[in-house]
Amino acid sequence: MKQIIIHYGELSTKGKNRKMFQRKLADQIRHLTKHLEKVTVQPEFDYMYVKWEETPYEDIIEILKNVPGISRFEPVYQVEKEMAAIEQQAVALFDRLTLEEGDSFKIVAKRQDKDFPLDSYAIQREIGSIIGERYPELTVEMKQPTHKLTISIHKDREAYLSLQSYQGIGGMPYGSSGKGMLMLSGGFDSPIAGYLMMKRGLEIEAVHFSSPPYTSPQALEKTKKLTSVLAAYGMPMKFHNVPFAKIQEAIRDHIPDQASMTVMRRFMLRIMDQLLVANKAQAIVNGESLGQVASQTIDSMVVINEVTSTPILRPLIAMDKTDIIVLAEDIGTYDISVEPYEDCCTVFAPVAPHTKPKLDSIEAMEERLDIEGLIQDAIENTTIEVIDSDYIEQQQAAFSELL
Ligand code: ATP
Ligand code: MG
Repeated sequence: MKQIIIHYGELSTKGKNRKMFQRKLADQIRHLTKHLEKVTVQPEFDYMYVKWEETPYEDIIEILKNVPGISRFEPVYQVEKEMAAIEQQAVALFDRLTLEEGDSFKIVAKRQDKDFPLDSYAIQREIGSIIGERYPELTVEMKQPTHKLTISIHKDREAYLSLQSYQGIGGMPYGSSGKGMLMLSGGFDSPIAGYLMMKRGLEIEAVHFSSPPYTSPQALEKTKKLTSVLAAYGMPMKFHNVPFAKIQEAIRDHIPDQASMTVMRRFMLRIMDQLLVANKAQAIVNGESLGQVASQTIDSMVVINEVTSTPILRPLIAMDKTDIIVLAEDIGTYDISVEPYEDCCTVFAPVAPHTKPKLDSIEAMEERLDIEGLIQDAIENTTIEVIDSDYIEQQQAAFSELL
């Protein structure tokens, strides 16, 4: 039986919510490993234990590297809580290594079970001297050893030895911080905004405003693919497609060009508010970054934001575009966002949008429009689809069958 010990991220400080956090994390790991053979997940107070039999080890590692709420994890060898057994396993592990000239080692022991007769320091000294004698060519190195053996004596459990430790992405378990709805365009920013909030434990549903026939089916497809990439960091995700063409036509026909961007964004937020109520979500998430474009100046944001009192989470507000792009490459949205299909904002983009709109004049202009009627029509015609992380593969498979 192979085994990995998971070190929780921030959830370990969260008092009585702790059980819920652990359950969410366990549920997500079970979901992400459901296609693998015989994986069991045991959430416990200090650590989570993942066991498996036939599954390739690498598959599990790759999955755990991207699960919100995991700070670190290590594949371990389990032995009885006795020095003889620990010693034997430590030697077996070093015997299996291919040692090179100049290699060094370090033993780190952690005794959580205070009934274990030796303290951490004594365990380190004893195992250290056995390894040192057996491999005289290995030097002891405290700061950056080539091989670090961790020995953990867990309470109410066994002893665990590990030579390797992997970094997780940190954050909090998906869905442990409530639910938000992400305004998802086909651009670089909004998927990253979604990812960052998911990593902070927020469950996400995606909302895309599309304007066929002005926008193409490829533009819609692009956003679904982005949703699919995000779903890999959480659970299967609801994707709401809001038809936006009628609203944009009304704006084009009745609102001066420079004010159209502001009015359009106010419509988006009003619609978001209704979707939030219908889907029991608590916050809006978007990809705005201060000063990036005309609608993201502080003056614009004040006037746009005025239509709602819902919290709008803007995780990218202080980020530079270059840093956003680095993240997009890391999490796998870059190659999709870079596809050239234009979304509704680009198609209807004004030549010179106001960077300092005035609230009273915007409100006066909006009186020319049937705001309630347009919003109701858009909501009634919104479609919902659930998108999972294998969506892209499935589409490709369907496509190659057609050929
Ligand atoms: P992005 O790269 O996310 O498209 P952007 O820098 O192009 O952002 P804008 O086009 O001004 O900026 O959009 C700001 C935010 O508004 C986006 O990050 C996104 O959250 C939301 N948004 C814009 N267009 C749409 C759309 N068609 N559907 C849903 N949300 C949108
Ligand atoms: Mg955009």
